[in-house]
Amino acid sequence: MKNYPTFVSHLECAYTGEIFPAGKIHGLSSAGKPLIVKYDLDAMGKNISRDEITDRPEGFWKYRELLPVQKAENIVSLGEVVTPIIPLKHSVGTANTVFVKDEGRLPTGSFKARGLALAVSMAKELGLGHLAMPTNGNAGAAMAAYASQAGLRTTIFCPDDTPEINVSEIELQGADVYKVNGLINDCGKIVGEGKEKVGWFDVSTLKEPYRIEGKKTMGLELAEQFNWELPDVIFYPTGGGTGLIGMWKAFAELEALGWIGSKRPRMVAVQATGCAPIVKAYRDGEEHAPLWENAKTVAAGIRVPVAVGDFMILRAVRESGGFAIDVSDELIIRSQMKIAKEEGLILCPEGAATVAAYEQSRSQGMISTTDKVVLFNCATGLKYPMPAARKFLDRHRPIDYSKF
Ligand SMILES: *Cc1c(COP(=O)(O)O)cnc(C)c1O
Repeated sequence: MKNYPTFVSHLECAYTGEIFPAGKIHGLSSAGKPLIVKYDLDAMGKNISRDEITDRPEGFWKYRELLPVQKAENIVSLGEVVTPIIPLKHSVGTANTVFVKDEGRLPTGSFKARGLALAVSMAKELGLGHLAMPTNGNAGAAMAAYASQAGLRTTIFCPDDTPEINVSEIELQGADVYKVNGLINDCGKIVGEGKEKVGWFDVSTLKEPYRIEGKKTMGLELAEQFNWELPDVIFYPTGGGTGLIGMWKAFAELEALGWIGSKRPRMVAVQATGCAPIVKAYRDGEEHAPLWENAKTVAAGIRVPVAVGDFMILRAVRESGGFAIDVSDELIIRSQMKIAKEEGLILCPEGAATVAAYEQSRSQGMISTTDKVVLFNCATGLKYPMPAARKFLDRHRPIDYSKF
């Protein structure tokens, strides 16, 4: 890939505003909060135009000036595509108002590829050697794939009820993966201890600064796909919230560049009723979300009982005039089946949760029929268990063709 100038100026604690230098290895800030990457957008605006970016080859690396990697040789790429925006025609909403952004088409079958492509490329650039991570599945798979390409070692811990296919793909792609009898935050503790004891680099959600930058590309891509006019509402299945925070950051940067106007989508954080810490904090008017006890949902990607970026998620939701909403597992599964049957899309349970949340909030009058809405399907539904198909035909017996 070609070298482009980058415009990173520094990093900043998202909570205290404390400033940290670029080009160094960073985890959390000294206040124990996430760090965000800051750019010199004035200089960038003078150097590059929206149209120049539009004309580049497709894929999120086209937004290079708005990303932190300095040298092209450090970019680790597995053929990232622009994910399509597909209107739902039959099942929900009115024609051409509700769209699914189908992130399942990215490498490793989920949008975790965006965050980990950036985190791993930066790990390579900064000379890190051994990465570790707790995961509910997709993040581990993406890290394994990208890190193996970069020649970095990876050690990964996932809850022991993580879908088997995720554990297998992680191992197949060269990581050292362990199932742990606990939830993702328990796995996170192990990574934290390994970091202290043997110097692993902790790639947990928001505990390093660059996964957000990768997820930010969803917002950049969305703006470009909608011809630099953002939709009215975004429904985002929220676990650690990287994508919601990242898109919100993207919109601010695009406005500062003058590439979009001041109109912002309302950001809706979608969680499952069995694990809804952000929804509870939103309703209680809190800035932080305490740990959710006994987290349980079929939507493993959003089974995140505690999020280090809770205040950033809540801030984006509130500033945007959006809201947080929870949906039951029963509705998630029903929506998944409906969309498969009626729209030809096999959504992941987390993506199906956004469909359920859309319908629920529309029936409650929180969304209008004319709102242009984007629902995020974060992974291919093909990675998840599906209902069994049980009909059998014995070809050695007479076949009654009238029964088909
Ligand atoms: C990680 C993940 C999520 C949650 O994404 P965040 O940006 O961390 O909130 C949702 N769905 C799936 C399938 C995931 O893998």
